[in-house]
Order: sequence, then C-alpha cells, then structure tokens
Amino acid sequence: MLDQYGREIDYVRISVTDRCNLRCTYCMPEDGVDQVRCEDILSYEEIIKVCSAFGRLGIKKIKITGGEPLVRLDICQLIADIKQLEGIEQVTMTTNGVLLAQMAPKLIEAGIDSINISLDTIDPKNFKELTRCDQLEQVMKGIETLIQLDYPHIKINCVPIEEFNGDQIVKIARLAKDHPIAVRFIELMPIGLASDYTPISRETILEQLTTHYGQLQSWPGKLGNGPAEYYTLPDFKGKIGFIEAMNNKFCHKCNRIRLTSTGFLKLCLHYNKGIDIRDILRHSDDLNDITQVI
Ligand code: SAM
Ligand code: SF4
Repeated sequence: MLDQYGREIDYVRISVTDRCNLRCTYCMPEDGVDQVRCEDILSYEEIIKVCSAFGRLGIKKIKITGGEPLVRLDICQLIADIKQLEGIEQVTMTTNGVLLAQMAPKLIEAGIDSINISLDTIDPKNFKELTRCDQLEQVMKGIETLIQLDYPHIKINCVPIEEFNGDQIVKIARLAKDHPIAVRFIELMPIGLASDYTPISRETILEQLTTHYGQLQSWPGKLGNGPAEYYTLPDFKGKIGFIEAMNNKFCHKCNRIRLTSTGFLKLCLHYNKGIDIRDILRHSDDLNDITQVI
C-alpha cells in the first residue's frame, strides 16, 4: 500500500484497549483517561476482520499495543489468530510488562514475534513516582521470565526524562550488557501530558554510556521494522538503540499507520487526520468494502 508521498505502508499499530494498569505521569492522568464504553471498542471479530483486510492490502507487520494490551481478555488467542491471516508475517507487542510473568508462555505459544517492554527506571521508588504504581518487581519478573524461556526477541523501551529518570540511563543500558536484548532510548514527544517534561538528548545519553561502558560503535543493521538506530558496546551481548521522532525525524521513511481501540484509522501520531472504519467493520462482511475504505 503506497501513500500519497510514495511511502510503502506495511505496518499497522493496533491499540486493542484504552485501559491500562499503570498511570505513567507523562502518558495518563492519575485517574486514567475517560473510559471508552465497551461497546465502542472493536470486538475480537472486528479486529480479525480489519487485520484480514490489512493483510490483503500489503500490511505485513502488526504491532499490538494499548493502553496496556495484556489487560485485554483473550489477547493471546487474538495474536494466534492474526498470525494465521494471509499476508501477515509478524505480530509483535509493546507492553508495560506488569502481566508478562504470568502471560509470557502463552504469548510465546501464540507465536508472538517480538516483545517490547517499556521500562523507564529500575529503581522501585522512582518507578512508583513515575507510574504511580508499585509494580516494578512484577515488570522485572516478566523480563526475567522471557530471558529464562530463552525468548530471543526482547526489546526494552526507555523514555529518558530529566524530571524523572536521568540517573537511570546507565543502569537500564546494563540490561543489554548482561543479556542479548536491545535497550532503546525513545525521545519524549511533546504530546498531551508529556509536553510538561524535558527530554534527554541522544548526545547526553551517549556521553553517559561512553563514560561508564566505553566507546559506542554505530551499528548499521536493523532489528525489526522500526526507525531505531543502533550501537554496539564492548562486552555487550545486546545493542543500544535510539528513536528520535523530534530531533532526528524519520517521516520520509515512515511505513506505518495506527488503528485506535474504537476503530479510527490514524495516519500519523501527530495529527488527528484519519477515518473511522468501525462502521464499515460493523456493517459489512465483504472484505472488498473494507479494503476500499482503508
Ligand atoms: N502500555 C504499553 C506500554 O507502556 O508499553 C503500550 C502503550 S504505551 C502508550 C507505548 C509506549 O509509548 C511506551 O513505551 C511509552 O513509554 C511510550 N510513550 C508514551 N507517551 C510518550 C511520549 N509522549 N513520547 C514518547 N514515548 C511515549
Ligand atoms: Fe499505561 Fe503504557 Fe501509558 Fe504507561 S505508557 S500509562 S503503561 S499506556
């Protein structure tokens, strides 16, 4: 599927729920977001239907996200079923990891191709301050479970923010020293609540890592389908990555669209432009109608 700028769109991020079991300060208000009514959220069957249409249109990779995707009932079965659809080559997930320890075996059995765990700090007090929940132990257990199961496609996503976790960068990067996992630093985007906080630059992070671990070497390879740029470090089993949506814009090579939990197909994270496809999903079983709207 080509967009009007000639970019090939082969990747969709699907939010399967707006609900979350954490309240990260830069993402959600303390009381959570206004909950969408259950009947407004795409049903299991509607998600399968839209994924079949995506597969027909050349979408190869689907990222399951949220809210927190692991709070959605039957999420493992949903992943297994999406994996069976024609054209879909990969189903991956981004999770806060709170429910991962108990769900990892089922996710792996479902065939999940890669699991990104969001982890901004490994200090319990700092974690509680940042997420307003005391769940770091659970998240760390989730990561350990994946490692113990020898799951090979683990990525850690950390959003460095001056007000919260500036002293955590070196500690989080260490996960890539000890294990073959990629630790990626994601530049904070000034959207919603996040516009109150200060991102930490790649230069500052590189400086801290060089001081502690030695000279980083740029690594030209790709891990997955995203815009991350990677580095290697001496004695590190894994890689260090950076995703900078503001300072190192990658719009020209963007390959993705997004589907909200209520079925709004959004073309860019930064704009509200898009199209509501819930109606067509609810009123037609003809995939041609759906691909046409998309
Ligand atoms: N709840 C899941 C999680 O936290 O992984 C999935 C959804 S969450 C919105 C996906 C990712 O977006 C998380 O890694 C989070 O840190 C990141 N995120 C949220 N707001 C952001 C912002 N303003 N700038 C950059 N990343 C952000
Ligand atoms: Fe929940 Fe993820 Fe937002 Fe944190 S970043 S509040 S875990 S949706």
